[in-house]
Amino acid sequence: MPAEKVYVGIGSNLGDPVSTVRGAIELLAKISKSKLVNHSSLYQSEPLGDVCQDDYVNAVAALESSLQPGALLLELLAIEKTYHRQRDPALRWGPRTLDLDIILYGNQLINDSDLTIPHREMHNRLFVLKPLFEISGEMSIPGLGSLRSLIDNAPELKINLINL
Ligand code: ATP
Ligand code: CA
Ligand code: CA
Repeated sequence: MPAEKVYVGIGSNLGDPVSTVRGAIELLAKISKSKLVNHSSLYQSEPLGDVCQDDYVNAVAALESSLQPGALLLELLAIEKTYHRQRDPALRWGPRTLDLDIILYGNQLINDSDLTIPHREMHNRLFVLKPLFEISGEMSIPGLGSLRSLIDNAPELKINLINL
């Protein structure tokens, strides 16, 4: 299978989020049949939803991968596990050590029960759109239009580049 350009969203707000996001990028570089081609700066963003929790550190990484989307998702879940990610079914968008989402997988549109690509909330999330724009520049998002227009129309959210 030929390699596809894949964008992965990274988020963390428990433990040491900066070192977790950096460590996650290193582990993304080791995924089989895949190559890390780029990653964004780190950003600090306010949490979504009503749960009282710390700010997030976010970034986006670009891979070239010849893994199928489902196999890639399993690799991402395994990396989350190395950071002891726990899911509380009663708490949506609660604090987490590490969250890795597939944002885009080439130009594919996928609507499976366990995988939606493009990520179903990407257009509402400046913490995905801004780092994506940093590394990809203007691009067309399958089914959603131009990345620039998504950024212009996204709900307001406090997000700052982290100067390390
Ligand atoms: P959100 O999906 O709103 O960002 P979340 O990341 O907190 O919320 P999780 O608990 O991490 O949600 O994931 C729940 C499920 O979402 C995963 O088990 C996975 O099957 C599914 N899922 C659907 N589409 C994607 C995608 N593009 N990337 C990652 N997981 C996805
Ligand atoms: Ca997520
Ligand atoms: Ca997730």
